[in-house]
Amino acid sequence: MAEKTIFKRIIDGEIPADIVHQDEQCLAFRDISPQAPTHIVVIPRKEIPSLAHVGDDDAALMGHLVVTIRKLAEQLQLDQGYRVIVNCGLYGGQTVDHLHFHLLGGRALSWPPG
Ligand code: 5GP
Repeated sequence: MAEKTIFKRIIDGEIPADIVHQDEQCLAFRDISPQAPTHIVVIPRKEIPSLAHVGDDDAALMGHLVVTIRKLAEQLQLDQGYRVIVNCGLYGGQTVDHLHFHLLGGRALSWPPG
């Protein structure tokens, strides 16, 4: 069996995380290496390796993740705006093979990314 990703280990409670939200479909926690004053990682409980692996039957789950991100941004008072990022695959800079959304805020972010 393939080795569990670090995010699956967080879902299973095997390693700690600063969890800011959880429900039956997803989990949100603070990134261990924050790139902005607020840096949250939002993941589905379902093991989907990347955005490239999202199926047609995952549409409702993806909607739930996006709505959850919007609610988190409100709760965390990111009133000046924020950025949501999904790194996908090698060229996308993905390092953990469990689909995740980055929610970044609390400072002005530059564009374009590197
Ligand atoms: P990626 O580079 O795959 O888009 O993002 C993976 C993110 O997961 C990185 O921002 C990294 O800092 C974060 N990360 C990696 N390991 C851990 C961990 O054990 N705990 C937490 N909270 N975040 C992690």
